[in-house]
Amino acid sequence: MKVYINGAYYNKDNAKISVFDHGLLYGDGVFEGIRIYNRRIFRLEQHMNRLWESARTIALPIGLSRKKLTQATIETARVNKIVDGYIRLIVTRGTGTLGLNPFLCRNSQIIIIVDKIRLYDKELYQKGLSVITASTPRNLNEALSPRMKSLNYLNNILAKIEAINTGCIEAIMLNQQGYVAEATGDNIFVVKGGTLTTPSKEMGILEGITRNVVIELARNQGYCVIEGVLTRHDLYNADECFLTGTAAEVIPVIKIDKRKVGKGVPGKITRKLMCAFKEITRREDTEI
Ligand code: PMP
Repeated sequence: MKVYINGAYYNKDNAKISVFDHGLLYGDGVFEGIRIYNRRIFRLEQHMNRLWESARTIALPIGLSRKKLTQATIETARVNKIVDGYIRLIVTRGTGTLGLNPFLCRNSQIIIIVDKIRLYDKELYQKGLSVITASTPRNLNEALSPRMKSLNYLNNILAKIEAINTGCIEAIMLNQQGYVAEATGDNIFVVKGGTLTTPSKEMGILEGITRNVVIELARNQGYCVIEGVLTRHDLYNADECFLTGTAAEVIPVIKIDKRKVGKGVPGKITRKLMCAFKEITRREDTEI
C-alpha cells in the first residue's frame, strides 16, 4: 500500500505525521471517504465540494488547488491498483504548539489512503440491521455543525458505544429537539405508504453523497421523496427503513429499539433501491 502525504508516497509503515499535528491534538481537520468502483472514483466532484466546504467552515486552507488535489486523489488510486475500494482523504491543520491557536500551525497535511473497506458483514445486507436510538443527541448545528465532515467524531462515537453496549452495531441519533437526524456514520430513510422520508439538512445531518444519489434514484423510479422531519414514532411505525453511506452503501434496517420495522425483513422498495444503487456504481464517473 502506498500512502500519499503532501506529494510523496510512503509505505504503510512509514506513513507518519507529527504528534504535534492539531489533527491529532484537537481533531482539527477535515476528511472525506470516497468509493472506487470498478477502477472509477464515485462522485469525486461532490466529495471535493464537501471537503472544501468543511475546510472553509473551520478556516483551514487546503494546500493544493482543487484540480491538483483531484489529480492527486486519482493518481493515488491508480498507484495502489485498486479495482474496488475506498479512499480516505484527510486534511489536518498541521503542526502547532500545545495550545489551540490554529493560526500558529504550519504544514497542514494532505493525506490520501487507499484501501479495502467492509463496514458491515455481507449477510447483514440480506438480513438487515437491528439498531437503537441513542440517548446522546447529535451535535448542535450552531455548535459543531454536523454538515461539516471534521476529524472530530466523538459525538458519533459516543452513540456508537451505546449501540455496541446494547448488542447492536448501529445507532440512530436524534437532534436536540428529539427529531431524527442520522446514524453514526450514515443517513437514514424511512418508507411509509410508498413515500420515502429522510431528515432534511436542518435536522442536523451530514448531507450524504449516497443520500443524494438514493434520492435521485428513488425519484427516477417515480417515488415521492420528502426531505423533512421524523420522530421516533415515525421510525417505529415505518413500513421500511434503510441507511445510506459511502462505506455502508444501502443497508436495510429491520429492528429499531426492539420494534420490528414492517414485517421485520428488508422491504421491497429498499431492495429495489439497493439494486439500483449497485447498478449506478457500475456505470459512471471519473475514470482512473
Ligand atoms: N452521516 C455521517 C455522520 C457520516 O459520517 C457519513 C459518511 N460516513 C454519512 C452520513 C454518509 O455520507 P456519505 O454518503 O457522503 O458517505
